[in-house]
Amino acid sequence: MTTTLDKSEEQASPSDGPKPLFEGKRNLATQIAVYMFIVLPFAALIAAVPLLWGWGLSWLDVGLALFFFYFSGLGVTVGYHRLFTHNSFKAKRPMRIMLAIMGSMAVQSPPITWVADHRRHHAFSDREGDPHSPWLFGTSPWALARGFWHAHMGWIFERDVTNKQRFAPDLMADKDIVRVNKLFVLFTVLTFLLPALIGGLATWSWWGALTAFFWAGFVRVAILHHVTWSTNSICHMIGERPFKSRDKAANFWPLAILSFGESWHNLHHADPTCARHGVQRGQIDTSARLIWIFEKFGWVYDVRWPTEQRLARLAVGKD
Ligand SMILES: [Zn+2]
Ligand SMILES: [Zn+2]
Repeated sequence: MTTTLDKSEEQASPSDGPKPLFEGKRNLATQIAVYMFIVLPFAALIAAVPLLWGWGLSWLDVGLALFFFYFSGLGVTVGYHRLFTHNSFKAKRPMRIMLAIMGSMAVQSPPITWVADHRRHHAFSDREGDPHSPWLFGTSPWALARGFWHAHMGWIFERDVTNKQRFAPDLMADKDIVRVNKLFVLFTVLTFLLPALIGGLATWSWWGALTAFFWAGFVRVAILHHVTWSTNSICHMIGERPFKSRDKAANFWPLAILSFGESWHNLHHADPTCARHGVQRGQIDTSARLIWIFEKFGWVYDVRWPTEQRLARLAVGKD
């Protein structure tokens, strides 16, 4: 039990007085923005299918979409998740700021909000208080369908705001992160405008700007949203559980590449501060590879890599 206890959970424990789970309700403007930025990219994803047939997609659009997919996606997995939420490594100041900006460009919420929600997820995983567990409604087929929807995206529309003072006091005291947090709207605009700008300049046409805006902006954000949400829904429902975790987190291999290694979610819940989630043979973990490259350059340090002994201790059946 103590071996699986995460540093962030210790911070989250109410030892310093019982701070409430929530700090209030979202205001209406934020609530409308949440609907807009969740529903619009998804509508774009659906519109993408007829558009794909024969026109409106160039190799430049594909390249830009891939680039921004990796840029913002790794910002979430390496930055928001493994660095800011779990402190699985330390990063030099420019690297920290860069990762916070990259993560912001995934349009999943500002860094401090994301971290507070995610630490609450680990503190209560698959129990009352978990912001996005699929198991809160029961185990009948209907309850599971409802649970899947809630864990995947339903939870995002709930208006309770996770208490940042309780779950992310370290980041609230970090001036750089607070600054990036405040500029979230700017990075949201940039994540759609930058592909359009590059597409427009490279083809010297409005049409090139429009298709890049559509593919590398909206469609890319929509796909990335669903990949990230799949970790919360699918990876808490189906897959293998070779390691001891006190929840339903599972390793779901089909999402390994798309999710940058985050779908090795069973190991992650068994050992939240570990910098590598795909620890077994052949388990591709792009995020861990990037952290490894950054470490070689000296931009990050004190990386918590898995050790044989630790993994053996966490394995199911060994106690
Ligand atoms: Zn989880
Ligand atoms: Zn986590």
